[in-house]
Amino acid sequence: MMIIERFLTILNELSSEVSLVVVSKTRSKSALMELYDAGHNIFGENKVREMVEKFDALPKDIQWHMIGHLQTNKVKYIAHFVSLIHSVDSLKLLIEINKRAKQNNRIIDCLLQINIAKEETKFGLTKSEALEILLLSNKMTNIKIKGLMGMATNSIDLTLIKSEFFDLSDFYKKTKLKFKNLDILSMGMSGDFRTAIEHGSTMVRVGSAIFDNR
Ligand SMILES: *Cc1c(COP(=O)(O)O)cnc(C)c1O
Repeated sequence: MMIIERFLTILNELSSEVSLVVVSKTRSKSALMELYDAGHNIFGENKVREMVEKFDALPKDIQWHMIGHLQTNKVKYIAHFVSLIHSVDSLKLLIEINKRAKQNNRIIDCLLQINIAKEETKFGLTKSEALEILLLSNKMTNIKIKGLMGMATNSIDLTLIKSEFFDLSDFYKKTKLKFKNLDILSMGMSGDFRTAIEHGSTMVRVGSAIFDNR
């Protein structure tokens, strides 16, 4: 199968409530452009340098999502164009994003990354840290927290993955009662996006299932 066929197959599986971020990290510009030419314009990258390089070279109506760990000192390189930052994992980072957004006369949409993986230490906030940041975010005029992001443990243990997705989705629903602006739950990648959707994901981040011929 070709990239386009795998992309269309996945797109077909998604209901209109679930949006697809095509994870284009490490992929060539021409591979990405195959999907752009087919009408897709939401791409996820995890490295600042690579995202800037692709932004500079590619059509300007592409929405670039930062999905990887973001260092505070690199926010300035993406603040003029990034469309959604999935990986906000500290108050310090959010304050810097707010500052750089302001300098660029923009409001930058953000997700708080919650650490839900039990078996690996990945980046992410605890639930109580996330709630604290949500409260403080009211005071920041140039960011908007739109929702939450999480990654399940990289494992074949479906029971474990399901319990982690359930945990995040449960926290998302409860948090949404208090912070009504939240409407994105970014959860699910190539190996687990179907399970994530069953648990209420509204945004999946899929790379290898589209780009790799397996
Ligand atoms: C790489 C990556 C993905 C996509 O992973 P695939 O398994 O290739 O679909 C999703 N989310 C994050 C944060 C990633 O770094």
